[in-house]
Formats: sequence, C-alpha cells, structure tokens
Amino acid sequence: MIGLPRRYRSPDDLPFNSSCLEGRFHLQSPDGDLGGEGVWLVLVGDRLLIRGTEQGDYLPEELPEALLPEAPLFIGTWDGVPCRLVRLSRDTAVPTGLRPESLVSQEPALPIELLTLGGLGRMILHWEDASRYCASCGRTMRRLAGEWGKVCQTCGSHHFPHIHPCVIVLVRRPGEVLLARKPEWAPNRYSLVAGFLEFGESLEEAVVREVAEETGVSIKNLRYVGSQCWPFPSQIMTGFVADYAGGELVVQESELEDARWFPVDELPNLPPKRSIARYLLDTVLELP
Ligand SMILES: [Zn+2]
Repeated sequence: MIGLPRRYRSPDDLPFNSSCLEGRFHLQSPDGDLGGEGVWLVLVGDRLLIRGTEQGDYLPEELPEALLPEAPLFIGTWDGVPCRLVRLSRDTAVPTGLRPESLVSQEPALPIELLTLGGLGRMILHWEDASRYCASCGRTMRRLAGEWGKVCQTCGSHHFPHIHPCVIVLVRRPGEVLLARKPEWAPNRYSLVAGFLEFGESLEEAVVREVAEETGVSIKNLRYVGSQCWPFPSQIMTGFVADYAGGELVVQESELEDARWFPVDELPNLPPKRSIARYLLDTVLELP
C-alpha cells in the first residue's frame, strides 16, 4: 500500500511500530548473518533508497561496487533473505534505478512497511554511532554475542540500546481540547502536550507534571491508550487521554509559544496522520 491509512485499527499499527512490518522483517543481531544474497537497506540522511517498479517499491538487491560497505551491518531478514544496512554520505550520487524517499515527510510516499523499516535502520545507526566508545571509560567496545548490546573491552561495562521514553496526552473538557504549539512549528499548527520522563517518574507522573508545567492545569481520569516507536532518533512515545480537573491556563513561555482550549469544531492545523498525537485526536474526537 502506498501512503498511510486514514485509520489505524490500533496504536500498534502506527508507522514505525513493528506491526507495520507485516511479518516480513525479523530483527536479528549482526553476528547472525549467515551470508548469501540479500537486500540492502540504504540510508542517506533521513532518506531511504528504494527501487521503484510498476509493481511497487522494493529494497535494492544490488548496489554499485563503489558503494558496498567494508563491513555490511546485518540487521535481520526481509522476506526470508538477509537484510543489510548501509549508510551513504549525503553527497553520494543516487545510483541509477534507485529513488530517495523521505522518512520524515509529514505525508510519506513510502509504503508503511518500508517507512517503518527505514525508521528502524535510522534508529540502529543512531545506536551504532552512540555506542562506539564506552560511556563509563571512553574505550572501545565490542558486540555481545547474539545481542545489539555491547561490552567495553577495558572496564567490562555493558551497554544496551538507548530508547528514551516520552509521554504525550490529549487533555479534554466538555466540547474542548487543550492544544499547544512550539514557536518553530508551521503557522497555526498545534499539537498535544508532550515531554520526556524525568528521574524517578512513572509515565503517569510525567504526564501530570508536563501538563502542569506547560499549561498550569491539573488533570484527572488519566488513561493509557498506546505507544509509538519514534526513531528520530530513538524515542518511545506513550500516549494518554485525560480530563481537565482544574486550574487557569498559564502558558510556559520557555517551551511553548501558545496553548489554549480549542472547541472541537474549530480545531487548528493538527499533527500529521503518521503520529500518535493525531491518532489520539482522531480516536477520542472521532474525527473523519
Ligand atoms: Zn569502559
């Protein structure tokens, strides 16, 4: 399927969650490469190189010799064959027959399974970059057998992929929802209150704190809805719905340009369909 669905059956079906891979991809560790022909997951910055045909979009099976990496990074199997990750510099000419497609476009042109696989590749590259050296002593690390984790060759510290938890919440009261915007966003674009966890917090405690800090209001009836992997570069977005409990709206000006209560029939520009922010709005407000 090209593009994203209008509706998702559940949050698991949002782009970048494994359900979108439709069982075609099986993550393995790099030392599981049994060799042989396979497909290439080629990333150039935030773009994935694909081979477009009249039948659809495919991962390339061949690359020009000059682009072949010295040590291909095996990440698992795609349709039963080895899938290997390659990063090309942004100034590399796109090989004939391949087409770059954005992973970060608000209206992605890629089929959802390739968009999701490309995001996974980006997340893996982020971990590879972040784990070259031991965070404890600064020396080199080597991979643990059968894992994406690594062990320091000097001090023996173990390190595992860093995935940062974030909370995002739709706060509502009768006929209205609480939306906020950051100064760098497109004009009239609003979204939900969101933020990173702090030390010692549960997800629910983080939601209560973020809403209070950013908007001054308190909430009740907090309910978890679902989560979305967000590989830009490595977050897990946990989505909630809550009811307004009290307090005057006071915008935290260090983080936000604006926050306000919008009547549900006078909404501003909303986040794109690829995000759990929009999923929460569409689902709770039963938007078309
Ligand atoms: Zn170390």
